Amino acid sequence: MIENGMVLPHKYLDPVEPMEIGNCSGCEHSVYDGEDHLEFDDVLLHDDSTCLTNYIRDNAEVRR
Ligand SMILES: [Zn+2]
Repeated sequence: MIENGMVLPHKYLDPVEPMEIGNCSGCEHSVYDGEDHLEFDDVLLHDDSTCLTNYIRDNAEVRR
């Protein structure tokens, strides 16, 4: 997964695997402890505009 420049500085020095919190409802990939994410009701999303957009478009009706 390509990440932006805000990754944790010690990410590659830490031998402990990050704990998986669950699956993102936007991109369907795993959300790990320490990643920016949003939780509401039973929904888990990366704090990422692509994930948020995917989730909303999957769950809302497009009206024009
Ligand atoms: Zn996501």
